[in-house]
Order: sequence, then structure tokens, then C-alpha cells
Amino acid sequence: MKKLFAALATTAALAFTAASAHAAGYPERTITVVVPFAAGGPTDTVTRLVAEAMSKDLGQQVIVENVGGAGGTLGASQVAKADPDGYTLLLHHIGMATSATLYRKLPYDTLNAFEYVGLVTEVPMTLVARKDMEATDLKGLVEYAKANKDKVTVANAGIGAASHLCGMLFMSAIETPLVTVPYKGTGPAMTDLLGGQVDIMCDQTTNTTKQIQGKTIKAYAVTSSKRLDVLPDVPTVAEGGLPKMEVGIWHGLYAPKGTPAEITERLSKSLQIALKDKNVVDRFAELGTTPSSEADATPAALKAKLESEIARWKPVIDAAGQYAD
Ligand code: ASP
Repeated sequence: MKKLFAALATTAALAFTAASAHAAGYPERTITVVVPFAAGGPTDTVTRLVAEAMSKDLGQQVIVENVGGAGGTLGASQVAKADPDGYTLLLHHIGMATSATLYRKLPYDTLNAFEYVGLVTEVPMTLVARKDMEATDLKGLVEYAKANKDKVTVANAGIGAASHLCGMLFMSAIETPLVTVPYKGTGPAMTDLLGGQVDIMCDQTTNTTKQIQGKTIKAYAVTSSKRLDVLPDVPTVAEGGLPKMEVGIWHGLYAPKGTPAEITERLSKSLQIALKDKNVVDRFAELGTTPSSEADATPAALKAKLESEIARWKPVIDAAGQYAD
């Protein structure tokens, strides 16, 4: 028995030394950040901007891999199974918290499959529709949706996506279920909204601001408590009569469970630097997206946020009673 303990202790010590040795020279090669949605959407845009800035700080390429599908859970699952060596990361949003309740069975244990790097952004959603949507304001959109509930289509990025959550809040606020159309991300969903193949979408300003400003889609409300500087003419959901739709989307950067703390700390420092990078700050501002503060871009802040958000959304999702397998 003693021998077994000694052998286990030696193995553990060797593993620890190997991890520390890796951490010391980290990063020595390209880092991949998995975005659990298709290219061209808000999560992708945020990640590419942050990855470019982190790459400057880390002295290694930080590239993005889009693994869309199943509301972000496919990409999260891929990272949960990846080597915990700091070379595969995940940038996911509020869906990390909502999926924990929405899915009856996830291929990973949300609170135990990841290490935390830090919070990345806070961004509101916008309720938008195809350009030729008849309604001129939120009240009109609600009337139209209620009168045409079997034919009005709402795009989302799958169960667990922020667009799914926001669509759910809309349908529950107007007490009318609508036809939902899932995509691998709201990048491709936006293409269909622009083409008029789908009617409505609720998505982050990161993806909608330019289109709203260019009048290629119609905007009915922002889900923040105050109007946004970049979209001053778009009323808040409360102004439009649907205060229960208020919601803020946050993004976090994760690593697979077992990634050495030296590495997640190094990444967290780099994230903090990236969030102050001029290009990131300017582009985020143009897109109504707020970079997380230095205090929030830390492992502890992301862990606390994920835990509190799982607790916050569980009763809301349970009340809706719609789950995915
Ligand atoms: N963030 C989007 C959503 O949750 C998906 C995406 O980034 O494409 O709907």
C-alpha cells in the first residue's frame, strides 16, 4: 500500500512539474480559441478582435475556430474534451449558463469541465426585423406577431444561444409562441434576415448596429435599461412596453479543466491588456459592446458570474418548461 501511495505521489509530482514547466515557457505555439457559433456573428466578431490583441501581447498567433451548432454546446463540448495545455480555449456567452438548465443532458458538466480566464464583454440585444416588416414600432410588431403567430418566423442560433434566450423572453412577454428557425450562429441568420427569408431576430448589437444604422433591417428595441449612444433612436424594451425583456449578454473566456493556474493567470493578464487595446476599444464602442473591466477579466469574476447566472436563469427556464435533449 505504502508503495502504491509513493508511486501515486511521484506520478502526481511529475505531472505537476511537467505542467509548471509548460506554463513557464507558455505560449510556445499557436493558441486556438473555439467560438461555438458560425463565423460572422457577434461572438465571432468579439473573439476575432480580442484574439488579435491577445496575440500581440502573447507573441504567438491566437486563431479562431468556429464550431457552431446545438446553441453553442457543440463547441463547448469540444473544448471540455481538449488537452488542458492552454492551447485550446473557448469564448462563449451567457449560453454557457442557460444551457446548463435548458439541456436535459449536456456532454459536459458546466461548472466542473472548465477553468476560468475572465469576463470579456457585456452587450445588449436588439429586437430587429426584416427591412420591409410592416410594423413601425414595438407595439405594432407585437400586434403583427400576435395576429400572424403561425407564420411569423424568429431566427436564433439554437437552443442555448443568446438569441434563443431573447426570443424566449419576447414570446413570453407577449404570451404568444412563434415559429423559431435555428441557425449555427446569428451571422448566417443575419444573411437570411437581410434577404427577407426570416422575419424577426433578437441579437447582440455587435451584429446588428451597422445594419440598423444602414437601414438594411428594422430595429424595434434594445434590451438595455437605457438607450445606446450608437443607436439613439431605438427605444428600450421598457419604453416599448416590454420591460421583462431587459437582458444583458456577457462573454467569458474559458480553458479545459486541468489547465495550469499559471497559464490561466497569464491568459487573464493578456485578456486585460487586449480589452484596453485601442482597436478593440474603438470597434467595441462602434458596435455598442462594452469591454469588461480589469477586475472582471479575471478567473474569479468569471466563475462568480457563471455561478450566479446559472442560478438566475434556472427558475425562468423552468417556468417556461421547454428543454432540449
Ligand atoms: N451570439 C449569437 C447568439 O447567441 C450567436 C452567434 O454569435 O452567432 O445567438
